[in-house]
Amino acid sequence: MKSAGSWSDPRRGSPLVAARVSAHRTSATRANREAAGDPGLPGLPATGAERPRRGAGGGDRRREPAALTARRRTMEPAVSLAVCALLFLLWVRVKGLEFVLIHQRWVFVCLFLLPLSLIFDIYYYVRAWVVFKLSSAPRLHEQRVRDIQKQVREWKEQGSKTFMCTGRPGWLTVSLRVGKYKKTHKNIMINLMDILEVDTKKQIVRVEPLVTMGQVTALLTSIGWTLPVLPELDDLTVGGLIMGTGIESSSHKYGLFQHICTAYELVLADGSFVRCTPSENSDLFYAVPWSCGTLGFLVAAEIRIIPAKKYVKLRFEPVRGLEAICAKFTHESQRQENHFVEGLLYSLDEAVIMTGVMTDEAEPSKLNSIGNYYKPWFFKHVENYLKTNREGLEYIPLRHYYHRHTRSIFWELQDIIPFGNNPIFRYLFGWMVPPKISLLKLTQGETLRKLYEQHHVVQDMLVPMKCLQQALHTFQNDIHVYPIWLCPFILPSQPGLVHPKGNEAELYIDIGAYGEPRVKHFEARSCMRQLEKFVRSVHGFQMLYADCYMNREEFWEMFDGSLYHKLREKLGCQDAFPEVYDKICKAARH
Ligand SMILES: Cc1cc2nc3c(=O)[nH]c(=O)nc-3n(C[C@H](O)[C@H](O)[C@H](O)COP(=O)(O)OP(=O)(O)OC[C@H]3O[C@@H](n4cnc5c(N)ncnc54)[C@H](O)[C@@H]3O)c2cc1C
Repeated sequence: MKSAGSWSDPRRGSPLVAARVSAHRTSATRANREAAGDPGLPGLPATGAERPRRGAGGGDRRREPAALTARRRTMEPAVSLAVCALLFLLWVRVKGLEFVLIHQRWVFVCLFLLPLSLIFDIYYYVRAWVVFKLSSAPRLHEQRVRDIQKQVREWKEQGSKTFMCTGRPGWLTVSLRVGKYKKTHKNIMINLMDILEVDTKKQIVRVEPLVTMGQVTALLTSIGWTLPVLPELDDLTVGGLIMGTGIESSSHKYGLFQHICTAYELVLADGSFVRCTPSENSDLFYAVPWSCGTLGFLVAAEIRIIPAKKYVKLRFEPVRGLEAICAKFTHESQRQENHFVEGLLYSLDEAVIMTGVMTDEAEPSKLNSIGNYYKPWFFKHVENYLKTNREGLEYIPLRHYYHRHTRSIFWELQDIIPFGNNPIFRYLFGWMVPPKISLLKLTQGETLRKLYEQHHVVQDMLVPMKCLQQALHTFQNDIHVYPIWLCPFILPSQPGLVHPKGNEAELYIDIGAYGEPRVKHFEARSCMRQLEKFVRSVHGFQMLYADCYMNREEFWEMFDGSLYHKLREKLGCQDAFPEVYDKICKAARH
């Protein structure tokens, strides 16, 4: 049922959007008309070229037919537009607004959310550029941290009546769920969204928590550096990737996002400021990742950087047969020469495995700028290698590679704009894609949310690589969603919520299932509980942004709470922040 993934509801968003879009369009069309010397519609000023003719034309009968024809020609598009708009409104009226929003949600997304998303992006891009050029961020940073400390102390002075949480509205996050706690907890406003410092000598970038991956790549790749692990979607934030989880196709070498971090700066429950590293306040350093803001507020992080090269030399290899897929994938994930390893599974026994290295040289005939707006969606492009059963080699500009799944939000956009990969749409409107996940969520109505919950899965399960085959069978039996994202990562043996069972680093794999389940009689709760049970049984982990159906005991069976609970007690978190389970479980979100 295609509608299940819909995210639109005009009740909250559309009037504002419509007003902005129409204002934008009016001025743009007017400017175009004036530039072209077009007389315009009645009521709009005519251009200089037209005015004298019109004035003279009043008494010149021989010229009248020509003037009329010109006017008619100008009116025609406007009349057609008006007729289209009328037909559209009539259709909405006949079908009912809810039907249109659920079954034809692309109408709302294309007309309103795409232009608005573009405006958002331009605003944030320009803002980040200006801030970096003015170098104002480091100066303002300390003042902003003091402001957070002040808010926490005030909360304490007022009797610590409720728990605290970050003040970022739930709809702005990438996670598809919104925490109910935002309405009941004390919201601490964290206005920290800038890159503070790039130190190429120490090979460190220091950033504020709301800095996004899009911001990081825009700056770092332009000066020849990059993060060793750079999660794909532009809008993922550093804070979310540390306090939640972050992973990329380079994680088999470098680990999860938390493993490339060298220091965290936090404001604690008593309003004090603390910096932690593997050697200084190390308990806190290891307990922070995956804690979802329940040990303190992150105000800055230091992250390793590595030199970047211009391209990724990417090899595509179709593989058939589950056993062969698992063997090939494991082999490539163990090879340190591969800078990037990723697999897309199109059915239980068909996959394309991609391996890449960074390079400064490219064979021009094999250069493929996949991020250009008119290019096919990446997962469709990859699928072609499977369909034609041929291997391939391409040189992809580094930044295009990093954000390869951004335009189609992995493959989620095909449910929202079914014709989004059609060449005509790509060439005409591809530059506005994708709609912002935050706006899709903001404009999501209750009916859609419920449909989405029951008929759509967005889950990432992290399991040991040695269990891959068994895990893929389980995914097929319990949810049956394709394509499936396969991303290997090395999990070091470190203290904290997530680590391997033994005392040594172990190769794991992230299995990402996003889409409409195809098992008969899919029932979200029971199917997901079955999957969660399997993941626990192999010492795996569920990413905490997704719907979690485990009860508290099951949750703490999956995650190691020993260090976490010790620190919550030591730092006085029990009265200040909810326990991580209470923040992410199904009951806590809608
Ligand atoms: C459609 C989709 C695509 C995704 N794609 C990827 C992907 O390509 N790669 C990947 O690695 N992951 C991906 N994820 C998962 C993603 O890693 C998580 O959602 C992650 O938590 C980042 O989301 P965010 O930046 O919106 O953080 P948020 O959801 O805002 O934050 C996550 C948690 O951290 C806490 N937090 C955030 N900032 C602070 C702070 N300053 N102080 C204290 N606590 C804080 C929040 O309270 C929250 O509990 C995807 C998820 C979805 C739904």
